[in-house]
Amino acid sequence: MKKNQGLVQVYTGNGKGKTTAAFGAALRMIGCGQRVGIVQFFKAPARESACRAFRKFGNKVRVWSFGGGFTWQAARETNAKAVAAAWAQCKKLLRDPRYPLVIFDEIHIALKYKFLETSEIVNVLKKRRAAKHVILTGRGAPAALLKVADLVTEMKCVRHPFREGVPARRGIEF
Ligand code: ATP
Ligand code: MG
Repeated sequence: MKKNQGLVQVYTGNGKGKTTAAFGAALRMIGCGQRVGIVQFFKAPARESACRAFRKFGNKVRVWSFGGGFTWQAARETNAKAVAAAWAQCKKLLRDPRYPLVIFDEIHIALKYKFLETSEIVNVLKKRRAAKHVILTGRGAPAALLKVADLVTEMKCVRHPFREGVPARRGIEF
């Protein structure tokens, strides 16, 4: 692999830390003066506090969010439309030389529920600009995607306070 070749990184598994790891990677890119593009699948704009923080970096980072809060209660068609719009934005970012790092947050969920074909994603990733880094997050990444990724990290849940009835907290979970 060439030194300046972009990487496909997959963060998956049931443990906490996939999205936070991706956002940490974003911070590093911003820190060295590079731009980051983030596409959030199944997320309402501005729910994530990290995105509010990202706004302070001006045009160094842009976030596109697709979806409402209660995704699984929404009609399949509503989700399908949001996923199609999110995926269109992903493809645009993969062609855009201004963003050396792009993050597709929770894209694996779109694959798991068959809103998107894994083969389509794999094909598009293969044709991306050579220097482009891509981070894909979400539980249950499909095997075909793991096969083409340069880096795969599986977050393993050892313990999570949710099991003790502790609800999601602002500043920690979102
Ligand atoms: P985070 O955004 O905190 O890095 P994540 O991206 O790894 O988490 P997701 O699969 O996106 O996790 O989970 C969605 C929500 O569930 C987040 O609020 C996350 O913090 C929380 N969560 C993650 N892992 C667990 C777990 N093992 N049990 C319960 N809740 C979890
Ligand atoms: Mg996540």
